[in-house]
Amino acid sequence: MLGLPEETDEDVIGIAELAQRIVDLYYQTPKENRAPSIQVSLSTATFVPKPFTPFEFEPQATPEEIDRRQRLIMDNIRSKKIRFSYHQQPVSALEAVLARGDRRVGRVIYTAWKKGCTLDSWDEHFKPRLWDEAFEECGIDKSFYANRRRDYDEIMPWEHLDYLVSKKFLIREDQKAHNAETTRSCREGCSGCGISQKYGGVYCGAAKKSGSAADKV
Ligand code: SF4
Repeated sequence: MLGLPEETDEDVIGIAELAQRIVDLYYQTPKENRAPSIQVSLSTATFVPKPFTPFEFEPQATPEEIDRRQRLIMDNIRSKKIRFSYHQQPVSALEAVLARGDRRVGRVIYTAWKKGCTLDSWDEHFKPRLWDEAFEECGIDKSFYANRRRDYDEIMPWEHLDYLVSKKFLIREDQKAHNAETTRSCREGCSGCGISQKYGGVYCGAAKKSGSAADKV
């Protein structure tokens, strides 16, 4: 995955280095104990922030930045035994708009469909030029939806839907991610996501056992 919040160039280069370590391990293995040849397939997708997740506030890295990180991986591949492929950037950018779009984006989808955009998740059917035309005709800036950091107090287009997990919890998890802190599994104890508070532990045995954390949400 490329483009997660807080990703550094060191992380990106680490992807190529991991593949190289696998190739090195192959050659360090005695010939009689290894397969006749090796081919490592390296594949990256671009991170698409999604609603109802702690990263719903996060910007997607711009297409230019993702291009740069993909090149960084390519530049750090030193073996012909490593094959690198990546997800088409225009697809990921469109996914980022649609994932967190509001009703104005509905006009764009309708306009793109009228222009002939269908079966877009199949590479051979995806027509980025027609999508760009649709965005332009509807006066919609893709980066507003895809590449903008949202404030924690911004009202999200999906906020009228109740997925039981509280926004406070999502904010807390986002902040923890930025501080490289992990959250324990629900089996080890409740972290207060809000579900138990709403249902009094009916749907959540772990919360019932551990008790108090859910009450602090
Ligand atoms: S134990 Fe239940 S209420 Fe607590 S964090 Fe997990 S799912 Fe949420």
